[in-house]
Amino acid sequence: MTNPIKKVRDHFWVRSHASEYIDGEMSPDDCHRLEDHRSICPKCKQLLQDLVKTIKQLAGMKVDQPAPDTLADDVIERLNAEGAKSPPP
Ligand SMILES: [Zn+2]
Repeated sequence: MTNPIKKVRDHFWVRSHASEYIDGEMSPDDCHRLEDHRSICPKCKQLLQDLVKTIKQLAGMKVDQPAPDTLADDVIERLNAEGAKSPPP
């Protein structure tokens, strides 16, 4: 059984902590919490997939300077903004 309040709380938590998860900086307990939520929330699953894809693309680009620490946060913000303004095809 999924507690709907927990789901909403985890939803926002996952979105603000996705970069830590992708960077491998998340504790095992938190990883478990994120993966639990991802398994029941298609939106977070998609967000994490897009984030990993974008970061891999960026990692493949030749850059003169290392990516800033805020890179993943910037990507999440951009994905959220794009999701908000572009209608589905
Ligand atoms: Zn979610």
